[in-house]
Parts: sequence; structure tokens; C-alpha cells
Amino acid sequence: MEFTRSKALQALPPYLFIEIDKKKKAALAAGVDLVDLGVGDPDRPTPKVLIKALQKAALNPAFHQYPFGNGMLSYRKAVGAWFKKRFNVALDPATEIVATIGSKEAIGHFPIAFVNPGDVVLCPDPGYPVYAAGARFVGATPYFMPLLEKNGFLPDLDAIPWLTLRKAKLLWLNYPNNPTAATATLAFFEKAVAFAKKHKLILAHDMAYSEVYEAGQKPPSVLEVPGAKDVAIEFHSLSKTFNMTGWRVGFAVGHPQLVAGLASAKGNLDSGVVSAIQAMGEAALKAPESLAKGVRSVYKKRRAILVGGLKKAGFSVFPSQAAFYLWVKVPQGHSSAGFCSLLLDKAGIVATPGNGFGASGEGYFRLTLTAPDARLKLAVKRLSQLKLD
Ligand SMILES: *Cc1c(COP(=O)(O)O)cnc(C)c1O
Repeated sequence: MEFTRSKALQALPPYLFIEIDKKKKAALAAGVDLVDLGVGDPDRPTPKVLIKALQKAALNPAFHQYPFGNGMLSYRKAVGAWFKKRFNVALDPATEIVATIGSKEAIGHFPIAFVNPGDVVLCPDPGYPVYAAGARFVGATPYFMPLLEKNGFLPDLDAIPWLTLRKAKLLWLNYPNNPTAATATLAFFEKAVAFAKKHKLILAHDMAYSEVYEAGQKPPSVLEVPGAKDVAIEFHSLSKTFNMTGWRVGFAVGHPQLVAGLASAKGNLDSGVVSAIQAMGEAALKAPESLAKGVRSVYKKRRAILVGGLKKAGFSVFPSQAAFYLWVKVPQGHSSAGFCSLLLDKAGIVATPGNGFGASGEGYFRLTLTAPDARLKLAVKRLSQLKLD
């Protein structure tokens, strides 16, 4: 038998990291000592105190049955307290918070709750591929909003055609941004909230990198905008903040109907976040700030190493102190894909071509800071010896 994939699945570009993984595996098989700055997955282990919290929770028989629902009340309360402390925004744990299995599934599933076939979903370009995938899975059409350097990689909302806006249901934003590392100000979010209200859009903000910033530059939540809760839902993750990508826990917060809709869609597809992992997440959210601070200082040091080396080698890096990415201009005369192949072949460095995140990413490549200092220093050395013809 031959099986044809659904039209929605066929419409997706090949999942970016899988393509890069293939090339990488071939080079590794050939014995190349690759410096992998491709995938944004923290290389450092989850803090021991959190593993201990998980171990303890795993022994609790109350956690051995289906978790169900919006998440444990104790987890949602911890989210509420953390949110209040971090953003000074009060959330009702009963109605405004839902636990998620990391944030990727929630982002992907969210359109099921509110988007119909034929609707338009506004997605950043370049952007995390899950926004468009989630749209296509419900038969909606993604509209790609170009993020341009001259606009600080913020979308020009006023440039969206009115006909597109009429069909649009959902507007995705993501700051600190993957892949550009750009950040948004509260003033931009104010504009976005007003825009969403005017055009009757759901404003969905992906804030996976909320805690990955350099001291003194705390990124704002969209919910800090007065009245944002009327139109917005925000997706958070413990993955990047606490080196917890392997454990799959996050949360979504905002308008009670948006939260309930997401919970309802999820309730029909999964049975919630593993309770012991919610307990682990609770421990992370209640942990002293030093835990997240430690993570931040690691990336700060790494950013300095790699940015310094890139600049010395003549590269132009978008200036940012947030997320753990560098968004770098491809040297003149090269395409994103061509230059990333060259980097792999001639320098043994894995980078992600910018156009893999969308057409507007052409002309850039992305490097991650999720490799140890010594590997970044090796990358810098190789970059300094790279001969471009
Ligand atoms: C990593 C990432 C996520 C989600 O990661 P989870 O591990 O699923 O929580 C969401 N959005 C962006 C932009 C990311 O880079």
C-alpha cells in the first residue's frame, strides 16, 4: 500500500531542523568535528533541584492517574504568583491559566479552538514554523507578515492588506523573537492590542524567551498593556528559562474564553501535562531568581564570545541581548542556503539558513548560543580562517 499524506501536511515546508539534521548527520558520519550552532536546544542540564522535585513527585500515587483538565491548581497558582511578580499582572488561576505540554503543542493546537477553514492567520516571516503549521492543519491560510531589519524586525501591521485583515482571525507575535532575537517594547504591544481590537483579531503572543535577556532589559508581556486581556492570549514555556526542553511543560494565560477554548481543544487531544512534571514546573517557578539568572549569565558570556568573533571576521550581527540566537547577514554575493552549506563544508559550523524561517529571512543565517564556550571559541577561530571567494 502507498499512503498519501493529507493536503495540509503536504503544504508544509519540510520541517527545517529535519533537513539540517540530515546534512549534519552526513558530515558527522564522515568524521567531521562539527560545531553545531543550528538547533535552539539548551545544551546544559536541568538544574538538580528541579530533578529532585520531579523525583519526589513521581513517588506520589496521586500523580499516577490521568492529569486531565487545565492543570493542577497548585501549578496554576504558582504560574499566577510568578506572573504577578515578573510582570505585575494579576491572573485568576481558575480561569486565566492553562498548563501546556511545553508551548509548541499549545501553539499548534490553538487554532483548532478558534479558526475555521478559509480564515487567515497572520504569521511573522521569518518565524517559528508552528504558527503556519497550526493554521494549515485547520484549513486556514497563513498570511506572512515580513519582519524587516529597518523596522527592528517588528511587523508593519498597517501594511497588511484590508481584504486579508477582513478574513484574519488570529495575529501571532513572538518577542523576544526567534529567529531574529529582536525584542518588542510595551509601546509596540499597545499598538498591537489596539490593532487587534479594531480588526477583531485574537492576539496570540509566544513568549518562550521571556527570561532569556541580559540584565536590565526585561522583555514586557503583552498582558502588561491595559485591556490586553480583552483580546490576548500569551504562551509561555519553562523550556528555555530552566533548560527543560526535555520535560515538556509550559502554560498559556489571558482572556478566559481563549484559555478555555485552548483547554477544550487540548482536552479532546491529550490528557494534560504529566502531574509530576507539573510539580517540577511549580518548583521551577517558585525557585529563587538565581536559577534563571545563572542561565542568563551563561548566554551573556557566550554572546560576547560569538558576537566579538563574528564582527572581527567582518560579519554584521543584528544587535540584541535577548533570546539565545544571533541573526547574521550573509556576506554579499551569497544566498542563505548557499552560505550555510559553505559554512558546513569549509568551517564545520552548522548554521540555519534564514529563509528556512520564511522568505523574508533570505539574506541572513541564524546561530544559536546553545553550545559550550569552548565550542563557540572554536567556531570563532574557524570563522576567522574562513576564506570567502
Ligand atoms: C522553543 C520555542 C517554543 C516552545 O518550546 P517548547 O519546548 O515547546 O515550550 C515556542 N516558540 C518559540 C519561538 C521557540 O523558539
